[in-house]
Amino acid sequence: MMETRVVRAWGDMERDRSLMEEAGKLIRKGELVAIPTETVYGLAGDALNPASSKKIYEAKGRPSDNPLIVHIAERAALNRIVSGIPEKAEILMEAFWPGPLTLIFKKSGDVPMETTGGLGTVAVRMPVNRIAAEFIAASGGYIAAPSANASGRPSCTTAEHVYEDMKGKIPLIIDGGEVGIGLESTIVDLSGDRPCLLRPGYISLRMLREKIGEVDTDPSIEGVMDENAHPKAPGMKYRHYAPKGELYIVRGAPEDVIERVNSLCDSAAEKGLRTAVISSDETLDRYRADIIRSLGSRQDEESIARNLFRVLRDMDDEGADLIYSEEFGSADMGMAIMNRLIRAAGHKIIECQAGGSEKNVILSEARKMSS
Ligand code: AMP
Ligand code: MG
Repeated sequence: MMETRVVRAWGDMERDRSLMEEAGKLIRKGELVAIPTETVYGLAGDALNPASSKKIYEAKGRPSDNPLIVHIAERAALNRIVSGIPEKAEILMEAFWPGPLTLIFKKSGDVPMETTGGLGTVAVRMPVNRIAAEFIAASGGYIAAPSANASGRPSCTTAEHVYEDMKGKIPLIIDGGEVGIGLESTIVDLSGDRPCLLRPGYISLRMLREKIGEVDTDPSIEGVMDENAHPKAPGMKYRHYAPKGELYIVRGAPEDVIERVNSLCDSAAEKGLRTAVISSDETLDRYRADIIRSLGSRQDEESIARNLFRVLRDMDDEGADLIYSEEFGSADMGMAIMNRLIRAAGHKIIECQAGGSEKNVILSEARKMSS
């Protein structure tokens, strides 16, 4: 088995020089290196080398029809990998690059089909994280970097999480500490007639519309889609972010949710199951369960986003059998938070009516898509 080293980086070119040189050499040889970005940790390979992209799919256990995002370190690098840059892309890049926004373009001949999962389009992002930017520059300028988790598991927000998933599979993990945002980038498709949001993230629909006017949303985002609808981001159809325990989102007025969750936990405990609750700071001390974790205050969406994947991983470490989560808002970043949580729950939502009366478990149609 390959030895996996974890090496700390500082985002300071002087201090990181030899590490970046080593990482760059590995990438040019077709090896993989895990790196921090502002969103989540990425599993990086040479985007223009089909063999590297194949290695990424292998290491993650990711289906090879699920395309990779190409990361660049400077705007000028874009021209080589796309065929044409729409006006609205210029506006969004000006506003949000470098940063947590991925744009989809028609691809050029230089991008191998292995990297785009066979698609004629390419997803491109320019991260703002300094370690990521230095690494990309040291590695030839074009890095394919999906999230560094094993396929299906929650994305990694620390180097320790990456080590859990990639130990023995890759030679090097660059440790840049905990990431800032904690959810993957917003993805906007600009390759068609109308801009379309494929995956919500830190850059919200409101921020996008402020810059370019109307933006459609892919039906898969809300978690409601019928079996015939194909999400435009192929990755959105897979089961994702899921802890090993059975996760349900409980929706309703706060007092009803607390009452229902406690009674569900009581009956699960009677059956000898280990129960868990994902709450907010405001309601943390109201629950009865074996494991209770808060994502943060409801006043602070950013902390909820940053903690989500870590708390989902904690559920595995703690051996939770049954997990009940509160619902989180759907405005701005809340849309991204709920999008990940609904996928983690395999679309299982329990609706509470006032008084906690009828059991009413709604299994959305979309669940069939996610298994
Ligand atoms: P990850 O690399 O884990 O952040 O996932 C990348 C996401 O971007 C997946 O959901 C992919 O399906 C999506 N994606 C990448 N390239 C494209 C593309 N050319 N068209 C549509 N979606 C894409
Ligand atoms: Mg991913």
